[in-house]
Amino acid sequence: MPTLVMKFGGTSVATLDRIRRAAKRVGVEVSKGYDVIVIVSAMSGETNKLVGYVNETSPLYDAREYDAIVSSGENVTAGLMALTLQEMDVPARSWQGWQVPVKTNDAHAAARIEEIPTDNINAKFGEGMKVAVVAGFQGIGPDGRITTLGRGGSDTTAVAFAAAFGAERCDIYTDVDGVYTTDPRITDKARKLDKISFEEMLELASLGAKVLQTRSVELAMRYKVKLRVLSSFEEQSDEAGTLVCPEEEVMENRPVSGVAYSRDEAKMTLVSVADRPGIAAAIFGPLSDAGVNVDMIIQNIAEEGRTDMTFSCPTDQVKRAEKALNDAKDAGEINYHGLVADTAVAKISAVGIGMRSQSGVAAKMFKTLSDEGINIKVIATSEIKISVLVDRKYMELAVQALHDAFELEKA
Ligand code: ADP
Ligand code: ASP
Ligand code: MG
Repeated sequence: MPTLVMKFGGTSVATLDRIRRAAKRVGVEVSKGYDVIVIVSAMSGETNKLVGYVNETSPLYDAREYDAIVSSGENVTAGLMALTLQEMDVPARSWQGWQVPVKTNDAHAAARIEEIPTDNINAKFGEGMKVAVVAGFQGIGPDGRITTLGRGGSDTTAVAFAAAFGAERCDIYTDVDGVYTTDPRITDKARKLDKISFEEMLELASLGAKVLQTRSVELAMRYKVKLRVLSSFEEQSDEAGTLVCPEEEVMENRPVSGVAYSRDEAKMTLVSVADRPGIAAAIFGPLSDAGVNVDMIIQNIAEEGRTDMTFSCPTDQVKRAEKALNDAKDAGEINYHGLVADTAVAKISAVGIGMRSQSGVAAKMFKTLSDEGINIKVIATSEIKISVLVDRKYMELAVQALHDAFELEKA
């Protein structure tokens, strides 16, 4: 039997009624002759609630316990989805990650899937089971403890299962009907794309477009998974949604294809650091050891042997970063006069493979922001993206202005 992976995100399983609606879609695919692997997220809001409990209990928590707690939302929806399918006379059962088992590395809260043995589930398909419902986002580490794959990780579970089972397609059902030129919640001029290249989707995802988790796009690209994003609320058709596919299959050729934003950024500045060889290693080594994901970095020009070092990281890692830097200072490994955290910034990025061949994109981006009176705090570029940090209060305005400037509403 051909296999299909169908993933339902938090809003698509937010109530028993929506689970029923999702189960009906699964039933349609079963009736076409597919063996279906359904990956479910927790009900929307559930994971946030669990993360909140953890932070309130222990701000610098043990990540193994964090995983034990936040993975639990998916257990509920997996069981409920299996029950709902059984009520519809579709033979189904649920699996938690460890039961499959979804084997991951030991990077708690940001684990990577290493292996998904297929024998267990395939044996059940062989016995007439039609749907395997698997709790997304979770796995089991080498030490036998529960791991999670990072926020939005159910997308990655879905693509990893599609790769492991050689599925015909991986359909990601969500609350929008595809991938847009920018988050449709920020501007109604956002345009749905029929296709988007893996490369661009990868950048958009890693720069904050949470419609797909970055790692899921990486896996789909590597294992050539046919990946589609579509709405669980609209009518189903073969052309629905957005196909994420190789660059050659996308016809559009423009300098910028999409604009992404990330709200939860913080800018940290080490004021007056002694400028000497090895100083960057002495600062960023301890940050990395503490699990801080440093993104942009600027080192200012040194005066009288001292310099300012600025970097950005996710807002929820500021406490960890401060502790790591203060500890390094107390240990005499670095020396600085002050540590300033600005937690009210956002990152705005323009992405497009057309940037490889067309110049002037950065200049246009900077001019557009300046015309709106928006000050740029940090800039970073790569081959197909330009990112800037701005005050968070300008985030939506910046996205809208760039979307207009690059005429993204026009096909
Ligand atoms: P799910 O719970 O189904 O995984 P998510 O909330 O993780 O859904 O992702 C879907 C959301 O991603 C949309 O509601 C939308 O607000 C947001 N989003 C951000 N950027 C984009 C984009 N470029 N295209 C579509 N959706 C986007
Ligand atoms: N429930 C998890 C989260 O909110 C995983 C997911 O929905 O993809 O991050
Ligand atoms: Mg998601």
